[in-house]
Amino acid sequence: MELKTRGKAQHIDQSIVAAVTRNMYSPDRNKILLIDSGEGNQAMIGFSCVLACSKTLVLPQDLPLVNSVAYLHHLKEGDIVVINSDGVINTLYRVDSFQNALLVTERCNSNCLMCSQPPKDREDIPYLHSIHRQLLPLIPKDCQELGITGGEPTLMGYLFFELLKLIQKELPGTDVHCLTNGRSFASRNLTKTLSGLSMDRLMLGIPLYGDHARMHDYIVQASGAFDQTMLGFYNLADSGIRIELRIVLHSLTIPRLGKLARYIYKNLPFVEHVAFMGLEHQGYTPYNIDKLWIDPVDYAPALEDAVNFLASKRMNVSIYNSQLCLMPENLWKFTRKSISDWKNIYLEECNKCQALERCGGLFSSASKKHSEHIHAFNWDIPE
Ligand code: SF4
Repeated sequence: MELKTRGKAQHIDQSIVAAVTRNMYSPDRNKILLIDSGEGNQAMIGFSCVLACSKTLVLPQDLPLVNSVAYLHHLKEGDIVVINSDGVINTLYRVDSFQNALLVTERCNSNCLMCSQPPKDREDIPYLHSIHRQLLPLIPKDCQELGITGGEPTLMGYLFFELLKLIQKELPGTDVHCLTNGRSFASRNLTKTLSGLSMDRLMLGIPLYGDHARMHDYIVQASGAFDQTMLGFYNLADSGIRIELRIVLHSLTIPRLGKLARYIYKNLPFVEHVAFMGLEHQGYTPYNIDKLWIDPVDYAPALEDAVNFLASKRMNVSIYNSQLCLMPENLWKFTRKSISDWKNIYLEECNKCQALERCGGLFSSASKKHSEHIHAFNWDIPE
């Protein structure tokens, strides 16, 4: 699914953030008008901007316009986009999705071997924050869940808290899920500031990749990260912040997965949720694939042991990014449809599978690399 398109911008000096409409008679002229085909007319005047696929659309006045847009079919009524002066149109919020997230920076203080979105060392925080400040008041108030992702969001500094405050003000009924490496929360001041916001609907998703520092620090390519993250876990727990612990499954984490599960139970029993996550063949992963790849069928026994151990201790456990045909049946109840809809695919084999409805499918990047054991169930699967 496309989230980005572009065309030729005219009369756009600064980024425009607004919801889109195809109704040229809409009374809300703050919106952006989409014209899939046809020419300009008087009814199009007054919108924040007009986006047109036509190369020749001309507006009656010198108004903000992007024409020759490659496609607009991916945009639904009410979706929110940002239009930049170079004609790039990025989708910021999709009304039909439960998986909207704010990408707040591409900077990071770790450099994980399997990062799906490798860090970029450029000052993107002020720009992205200004876009999100415009976006948040436009998001429907009944939005159920909103993600915050990066990079490492806490590198925003005080703007991280400004963003959370704004979310709290504009979307008080929305669950907020923030992905962070947790290292910044080794600072008690930061943790206290966060707890001072009293955001009951906030959950931090924090990864832990080993039961000892050498393993975790190697995987995240940052010396001292394990100690900082562990201190972060304790500070956050002490401040009553809700935590999800995340573990990516690959050939470096699998050998000690059982030990890691026991370490979590012993040392971090307060985490609200433990998510075991299948590898995404994206970002750094293709470059490190020889170090990382292990077929899910081959790691199933280790996963079974870790998941069943934590579940037996009444910890809340899930398996993300997995395919049912690669999982032992007794783990199916832990699997979730977790892959964001815009990058979720099923293979040709899946079309004849009786488990299709129940299975979470694959990342679109799995078209380049996936298990050879994917196979359709051609019999009725148990509920
Ligand atoms: S064949 Fe496809 S739909 Fe069926 S279980 Fe495997 S991955 Fe899922």
